[in-house]
Order: sequence, then C-alpha cells, then structure tokens
Amino acid sequence: MNRANSFLDSVDQNFRHAMSFLDLPDGLAERIIQCNSTYTVRFGVRLRGRMYSFIGWRSVHSEHCEPVKGGIRYASNADAEEVEALAALMTLKCSLVDVPFGGSKGALKIDPRDWTPQELERITRRFTQELNKRGLIGPGVNVPAPDIGTSEREMAWMMDEFRRANPTEVINSRACVTGKPLSKGGIAGRTEATGRGVQFAIQSYLRDTRTQALNSCRDLKGASVIIQGFGNVGYHAAKFLSEEDGARITVVAERDGYVANTEGLAIEALKQHQIRTGSILGFDGAKSFAADFTGIEQPCDVLIPAAMENAIHAENAERINAHLVVEAANGPVTFEGDKILRSRGVTILPDLYVNAGGVVVSYFEWVKNLTHIPFGLMERRRRERRNQTIAAALERMTGKEFPADIRDEFLEGGAEIDLVRSGLEDVMRSTWARICDLIEKQPELGDYRTAAYVASIRQIAEAYEAIGI
Ligand code: NAD
Repeated sequence: MNRANSFLDSVDQNFRHAMSFLDLPDGLAERIIQCNSTYTVRFGVRLRGRMYSFIGWRSVHSEHCEPVKGGIRYASNADAEEVEALAALMTLKCSLVDVPFGGSKGALKIDPRDWTPQELERITRRFTQELNKRGLIGPGVNVPAPDIGTSEREMAWMMDEFRRANPTEVINSRACVTGKPLSKGGIAGRTEATGRGVQFAIQSYLRDTRTQALNSCRDLKGASVIIQGFGNVGYHAAKFLSEEDGARITVVAERDGYVANTEGLAIEALKQHQIRTGSILGFDGAKSFAADFTGIEQPCDVLIPAAMENAIHAENAERINAHLVVEAANGPVTFEGDKILRSRGVTILPDLYVNAGGVVVSYFEWVKNLTHIPFGLMERRRRERRNQTIAAALERMTGKEFPADIRDEFLEGGAEIDLVRSGLEDVMRSTWARICDLIEKQPELGDYRTAAYVASIRQIAEAYEAIGI
C-alpha cells in the first residue's frame, strides 16, 4: 500500500461520500476539494564540513478564509501528496470548528533525530527563509504551527527568522507562527491543546444522551484506553484522561513496541522514563513488548490512535478490539478501515473534530498576538473583586463562612490558562452538538465523520458562493 496515496485517497473518498448528501452548484465541489497550490522547496545547508540538500513542501489548500493555517512536520517519510491531504483536512477542520482560517500544511523531509539541536536550528532557519521568499509565512497570509517532529522550539526559530527578514513588519510579526513558547508570545495551554481537545471530544460524546454510551457508562471512570503514539498529543490525552477522568490507560504503543498494564499505566512516570531512555520499553510499571505492533489490537473500551495516518486499514481493522475509536492523529483510519470498523459496530469520532483543539488554541494565540493584550487582563481584577463581594454577601446572609475548599477557585478572576481551556471546551462542546444535531436531522448521513464533513463543506460552500470564487 502506498501510504501517502492511500491517505490522500481516503480524504478524497470521504469528501466525495459527504458530497453525495449535498446539492452544490455545478463545479463547486471540485473547486472546494482541489488544493490551490503546493510549493516544493529545495535548499542546501553547510553542516559537518559539507553541503546537505533538503526538500520540503508547503501546500495551501483553500484561501476562502485568510490567513491559511496548518502545522509543519519534520518526518523522513513526508511527501507532497501527504502534505496536500493534510492541508485539505485543515480546511475542513477550521470550517467545522468555525475558526476563520483556510487550510495549509507543510513538511520537511528529515528525521529530526539525525541532527543536533544546533543543526536543526540552522535547517529550520533556512527553511523559513525559503517560505518567506514565497510568501508562505506571515501573520496575514500563512501561519504555521507545530506538528509531528516539531515543537515550540522550531516555532521560536521560525518566528525569529521571519522577524529578521521582515524588520518593518515587527509589530505583528509574532503572529507569523503559533505554538510558540510563552516567553516568545505563545499562549498558556497551546502545548497541551490537542490532547486537551481529545479529552473534551470524548467527554462531549459521552455526555450527549443521543450517543451510544460506553458499556452503558457516560463517563470514563475505570474505562480501559489504548493510546498509539506517546508524543505531544498522545501523552497529553493519556495524562488528562487518566488523571482527571479516572480512565485506565492499559496500553501505550510506540514505533518500537508497546507497554501494557491492565491496572492502568502511570502516565507521568512513563513519560519521564521515555525522556530518560528514549523509549517507553523497559518501563518498571508495565510489561514491555519489543518490536510488537499489535498494541492497538488489544481489547479495550477506547482506542486513541495519536501517531500518524493509516494506522487502521483494511488488513488490521478486523482485529481492532475497541468500542470507540477516537482519531487524535490526522487520518489514522483509512476509508476501507472505517467501513470495516463500522460494520463491526465500532463507533468512530473523526479526526477533523477530535484533534481540532490545536488549531482552536492557535487561533486564540494568533488573536492575542494581533491585539497585543493578554486574555483577561482588562477584567481579571474587576471579576475578582465582584466575586469577593458575592462571597462576603453570602457569608453575611447565611451567617456561615464560605466553604474553604472552593473559595480560591470562586474568587479567582480568570487566568489565561483557565480562559483558554474554557474557550476550547466551549468550541468542542458546541461543535459536537452541531454534528449530532445534523445527524438527528439527516439520519441518512449515518456516521459522525460524514456528518462532520457535510457540516464543514456546507459552510465552505457558502463562503465560496459569497465571495464568488
Ligand atoms: P509527535 O511527533 O509529538 O508524536 C508522535 C509520536 O508517535 C512519537 O512519539 C512517535 O515516536 C510515535 N510514532 C510514530 N510512528 C509510530 C508508529 N508506527 N506506531 C506508534 N507510534 C508511532 O507528534 P504529535 O504532535 O503528537 O502528532 C501526532 C498526530 O496528531 C499527527 O497525526 C499530527 O498530525 C496530529 N495532530 C497534532 C497536532 C498538534 O498540535 N501537535 C494537532 C492536530 C493534529
């Protein structure tokens, strides 16, 4: 199976399936699905006493909303078709969660583990120069973010290089990337945002009485969860679901094998072990299965693929043993895999909804950079004083002291992290309600992915019609 082709095919097939439920004017469907442009960037960097050549891509899928937005990944198996499929998903995702961006995506074909941090910095800065030359980075045109193999460190380098290249744009230049460190204009809660969004997505699904519960349960307490990919998204999702919702993370699968513990893995300790040794294998609190890739096939209530695309496909979908598959990664279930899972009664929460937390909080960061004022600054103290007055009034009226265990939380005026989490939760909950309302109105849509695609495409179509392109 050609990995990238199959991923692009899956996005295309999902799109065309959704289109069969929409009655769009002639030619509009094709216009929406087509990727507007893909730039191939080749450049050289002198390292280790010789010249190394690098290749990368930046695809702009749709400019019906600008700027366009999407992550940049560093991966040795990246290619142009994969980037185009990811850019299309970004367009659909932004529209679904009502974030005013068009879709874009980028990649550099390197394995970051082959290079030192100093070398990576030089490569990233050269890549940014190439993007800048072609107008593929900038606060009003194209705004990258972290993805596989990149993090806030790469975003800080990119922003710095963009500022050097555009000294007259300095006032808004921080908004040229999102996912930056806090000290460089980032926003509290961006690093955890996609994993946090995964948690809110599962909670929204379970709370909604129109959905199938999990073994008749409407919460995650004691539920068994398998995570594939213990990077940014997988780690944060596992952490929040186990520490806050009481789920048991029974398996964590990585590229070199998996670890398992039916009682539930200690996620923070496992992360520390991974940072220390470079692998999850050999962790004291679990049984290790080296070079065994059947981790995702173990029985569980919830399976969360959070690594890469095409993890569940026609060949292994029959062996998936979960009630609910939550697509934290982009495109982890192929079109064929999806059909098989659903025919076996497995419910799938689709990627364009589940992992939208990253772009939602990126939007908050971008707005913060452009307004030049931290969220909550103007009202925090006023809210704090109002809450103090309410607490004092309650104490006077009841003659009792305000309960000490909730006093601090009640009096707190709203730190940035609380506002970000609250905004993200609101978007995830209201988007879920929209998907479910649509399925209720049009049961023939049949599944959440189709409903999410239909809701999203309808909105994009309206934008295209309105601007006449
Ligand atoms: P990451 O690089 O931080 O983590 C990915 C992890 O998956 C790594 O630990 C890697 O070793 C592991 N992995 C790779 N191949 C694997 C395999 N075959 N089996 C098991 N594990 C494997 O990347 P991330 O940012 O966590 O992104 C993960 C997925 O989530 C990607 O599909 C990405 O596009 C998507 N996503 C990320 C964000 C974000 O904010 N970072 C936002 C939306 C979607």
